[in-house]
Amino acid sequence: MSNATHAQRPIEGVEKGKRVVIKIGSALLMNEAGTGLRQDWLDAIACDLAAWRREGREILLVSSGAIAVGRAPLGLGAGTLRLEECQAAAAAGQIRLAHAWQEALAPHAIAIAQVLLTLEDTESRRRYLNARTTLNTLLSLGAIPVINENDTVATEEIRFGDNDRLAARVAQMVSADTLILLSDIDGLYSADPRRDAMARHIEEVRDLTPEIEAMAGEAQLAYGTGGMVTKLQAARIAMAAGCRMVIADGRGAHPLEALKADARCTSFLPSSEPKQARKQWIAGGLSPCGHLVVDAGAVKALKDGKSLLPAGVTEVAGTFARGDAVIVKGPDGQEIARGLSAYSSTDAARILGHKSRDIAAVLGYRGRDEMIHRDDLVLR
Ligand code: GLU
Repeated sequence: MSNATHAQRPIEGVEKGKRVVIKIGSALLMNEAGTGLRQDWLDAIACDLAAWRREGREILLVSSGAIAVGRAPLGLGAGTLRLEECQAAAAAGQIRLAHAWQEALAPHAIAIAQVLLTLEDTESRRRYLNARTTLNTLLSLGAIPVINENDTVATEEIRFGDNDRLAARVAQMVSADTLILLSDIDGLYSADPRRDAMARHIEEVRDLTPEIEAMAGEAQLAYGTGGMVTKLQAARIAMAAGCRMVIADGRGAHPLEALKADARCTSFLPSSEPKQARKQWIAGGLSPCGHLVVDAGAVKALKDGKSLLPAGVTEVAGTFARGDAVIVKGPDGQEIARGLSAYSSTDAARILGHKSRDIAAVLGYRGRDEMIHRDDLVLR
């Protein structure tokens, strides 16, 4: 934590962000009566998003609001909903929410693509290779993914429940460098600013110390819709993934432009870059489930920074699923790398030694060209 004054605040995180996840809470999207979306606000932020894109940023939106938007059409009044009512409201609301984003971004000729995820998709299942690849493909096609939790199918055990953590998982999954949580408050305070005149705004956090955690704990009861606790949990995930996180006030019409113009916010600064953090996770954070032996040509290719192709693999050992971590060994049995296998051990054994163009004929489906993509590989 630093005591830098507002003027000295290092804004470059938001300015320089290249791949940015923006989380938008229900409170920002809904009108005061809670009966519909704030179309003016959506239109205004769509202008900001278009401007940010023109400046060369890739954008992913994590938009809440499905449950809130879905209440009225289903005749669900105010008051607490049961879990199954929330899920029904989400089903009715999600289609309207996605449509609203589509309408808001259409004048800027930006395509949106709806992606609904559960906790499992982002934490463990197949090490989230599928969701990551789809999101990367959408970005490369110039679309803005509009992401929400798949509330309709997520049961209590596999729910995030809050989109702060979902957004952080998405940021981690796509190796984003910046995560912006647009909220109804301009950051973290040392105490509840609406009750305590001495509450100090925190500009910058480099370490989630118990002191910082305590600030969220106290403040949560008093202000904020999602609360600061889930925001700090999101910060922990983002920082570990090498992604800076910003909590900013999103209530005004052009919150992203305001941020660029130095609006007050709290920045959580990680100590590493996303790429480095992901590589550390692959190298040390996962237990390998098997190994692949590769030929001398593949060893050279990997050392030159290339991906591992099935053609270079001579042996598959162990039992692993797609997305599991495996050890890569040279012809002499020495470990040369670790990575996430794009194929299960069964399929890997069938395609080893084959050219990538033959994969479909051997397996009966068209998988990835690479056995391990270079982004999913770390040399020893
Ligand atoms: N997924 C929920 C929705 O779209 C929102 C969760 C949250 O607000 O954090 O309604």
